[in-house]
Amino acid sequence: MSALIEAEGLTRTFEVSAGMFKTKRLLHAVNGVDLVVERGDVLGIVGESGCGKSTLARMLLGLVPPTHGTVRIDGIALERMDRRERARRVQPVFQDPYSSLNPRRTIQSIVEFPLVVHGIGTTAQRRDRAIEMLARVGLPERLAGHSAGQLSGGQRQRVAIARALVMNPEVVVCDEPTSALDVSVQAQILNLLMDLKREFNLTYVFISHNLAVVEHIATQVAVMYLGRIVEFNDAPSLFAAPRHPYTRALLASVLTPEPGLGIPDMGLGLSFPDPTRPPSGCGFHPRCSQRMQVCDNRVPGLSACDGAAGKVACHLYTEIPATQP
Ligand code: SF4
Repeated sequence: MSALIEAEGLTRTFEVSAGMFKTKRLLHAVNGVDLVVERGDVLGIVGESGCGKSTLARMLLGLVPPTHGTVRIDGIALERMDRRERARRVQPVFQDPYSSLNPRRTIQSIVEFPLVVHGIGTTAQRRDRAIEMLARVGLPERLAGHSAGQLSGGQRQRVAIARALVMNPEVVVCDEPTSALDVSVQAQILNLLMDLKREFNLTYVFISHNLAVVEHIATQVAVMYLGRIVEFNDAPSLFAAPRHPYTRALLASVLTPEPGLGIPDMGLGLSFPDPTRPPSGCGFHPRCSQRMQVCDNRVPGLSACDGAAGKVACHLYTEIPATQP
């Protein structure tokens, strides 16, 4: 296996207006993220709404430029690729197939659109490719002339997946691809994604608030909190033996299949902090039951510990004495 996606020091800061006087504040949506995804892996990225996982997904797609840091696909920095090269290598599947597909356009025109934009093939070749991709995602040719508005949510997400794969990409970034769908359809779409991964030798980045889904599909998992990765491990190790207190709270939570509800009460007490005013030190310290004095002032780095697999960003696993600020 070889590294296909590498993110180094990836940081994205937005200026937002807040409060009665619309004071400008900086929001560190993604803060110094390092990642390596091997070819053929499925990296699950989990965390609460506002933790930065969707911004990170858009940076991996080249849709949001980083404030600092870089993303490389197969050793080539995204900013050095032209649009066609980037589209050939990385494609998205977004959360809501109702808003991500124009309801008035035909299914065929939606699926072949990336080929049209990048000037690939003749009209007949593009049509054939679109029909072929529809078949691969389980949609019959007779639907090609239907408009997206005539399809169910599950069928629309199949169209979105066909559109993502029509350029034959190496990486697909899936941002909550099943959370807007009925529960009965979610498993079908997940199984389809796994079948397509094997068939096309794909590498996935899979964003989700639903840990049950991530456990089902991911080979590696990154847990995000306030723009940082706080734990990274292979999926079996992370789910069997979570180390960061936040990961443990996530796993202990009762997950919901309801879209839009996010992660329900995790017994963490305080709600998710305002990302424009992050806590000092460890960003999780106001909610952490194992907080120490050092946690209030010192940001824990993401590092390996005890010779075990994976990395964790928590002072419980560092050599710093608990009394040292
Ligand atoms: Fe809790 Fe401290 Fe670890 Fe943060 S660094 S998760 S506050 S124990």
